[in-house]
Amino acid sequence: MFVGDEGYSMNGYIVCVGAGFSGSVIARELAERGMRVLVVDARPHVAGNCFTQRDSETNIMIHVYGPHIFHTNSDKVWNYINQFDEIIPFVNRVKAHARGKVYSLPINLLTINQLFGKQLSPREAEDFIKHKADLSISNPETFEQQALSFVGREIYETFFRGYTRKQWGIEPQKLPASILRRLPVRFNYDDNYYSCKYQGMPKNGYTFIIERILDHPNISVQLSTVFTRDSAKNFEHIFYSGPIDSWFGYSEGHLGYRTLDFERIQEDGDFQGNAVINYCDEDVPWTRIVEHKHFTPWENHEKTIVYREYSRLCGPSDSPYYPIRLVDDKQQLEKYLQMARQEHGVTFVGRLGTYRYLDMDIAISEALGVVDRFVTSL
Ligand code: FAD
Ligand code: UDP
Repeated sequence: MFVGDEGYSMNGYIVCVGAGFSGSVIARELAERGMRVLVVDARPHVAGNCFTQRDSETNIMIHVYGPHIFHTNSDKVWNYINQFDEIIPFVNRVKAHARGKVYSLPINLLTINQLFGKQLSPREAEDFIKHKADLSISNPETFEQQALSFVGREIYETFFRGYTRKQWGIEPQKLPASILRRLPVRFNYDDNYYSCKYQGMPKNGYTFIIERILDHPNISVQLSTVFTRDSAKNFEHIFYSGPIDSWFGYSEGHLGYRTLDFERIQEDGDFQGNAVINYCDEDVPWTRIVEHKHFTPWENHEKTIVYREYSRLCGPSDSPYYPIRLVDDKQQLEKYLQMARQEHGVTFVGRLGTYRYLDMDIAISEALGVVDRFVTSL
């Protein structure tokens, strides 16, 4: 269904396109200030890519579009999300299968000692890796340069090259260095995947949080409804968190995205003993295996559900997951951003609307900021 098909008038309403964190937080903030908001989503459910749902047979909470761990350094965002559900402390401790062994990830002292068969202290490990690193690369621009200058060839080839080629379908020499900068390298035994002040899992899942954010008398929600540029009449303002290239009818071509396929396996007991295990070897076709029940260690489940995750290029009918943002794509993106800046009455927000990799906390923080600026401009 397209907005407008049903012929109702929405004069005086603001529209938020997309019921993910971006659209929902914006809707709530506007509603709190007395404005009437219509939230529209193409999918039959709210919560965008953070959608969680209990499996009808096992009652396990499933992260339907891939695993989501809430983490932030922002007191403001932490306090915001805690209004809507109890966020139970959870530390993401990822393991990695590589060349027949299991390692700790991100790279830490255990990973280094295991890979090189050593018993190095933190200081010794730092010196050791300095000798491995290619110090001739002073200003790394690509993923590969970043890895080689940071940790050297053995670590790069064991943990990063194969995984990255599977994940992005692109040679690491063509990917931006910023992708790897998301991962820390530690010279201690800390195996927390994130270095954040706060980290946790919502007790009742992300869908519950979004439903509560949207639960306001000034907010109406319409699901299974595609909102296009042609639907944009009769509204006071539009906050659009759909893909920016789609809004403009792909006039400048399709921006590159990766999408994911999930292979579901159900078994008894414990499949892998951890929530996330990455598979770094290129001859293993999946990138990682996620065992959903380990995200809620406070619950007991006899059965288990795992998703093997496969990455591939996003086609026209697939869900866009990761913006690729190749160095060469910048010109195309710049054209869309230029068009977006000239689009009257529309604010482009969120992961798809701005074509950036955004964690949930940043999506929330930006949504709060967008409303503050919008209200001040009225
Ligand atoms: P989305 O959640 O994508 O919501 C956009 C919504 O807009 C969608 O529901 C879509 O259906 C709707 N839409 C699009 N076009 C239209 C249209 N024309 N009309 C109507 N509706 C439309 N972040 C973390 O903080 N921690 C994690 O561990 C983490 N893991 C992730 C794992 C994966 C696999 C992925 C892909 C992302 C992960 N993220 C994680 C990022 C997180 O998913 C995003 O921060 C969050 O989804 C951003 O919310 P959003 O509202 O901007 O976008
Ligand atoms: N990466 C890798 N091997 C791993 C984990 C990550 O090569 O075992 C690379 C990969 O290119 C990934 C990037 O590091 O995209 C950032 O890691 P992160 O966990 O943030 O991945 P994402 O959020 O992209 O899934």
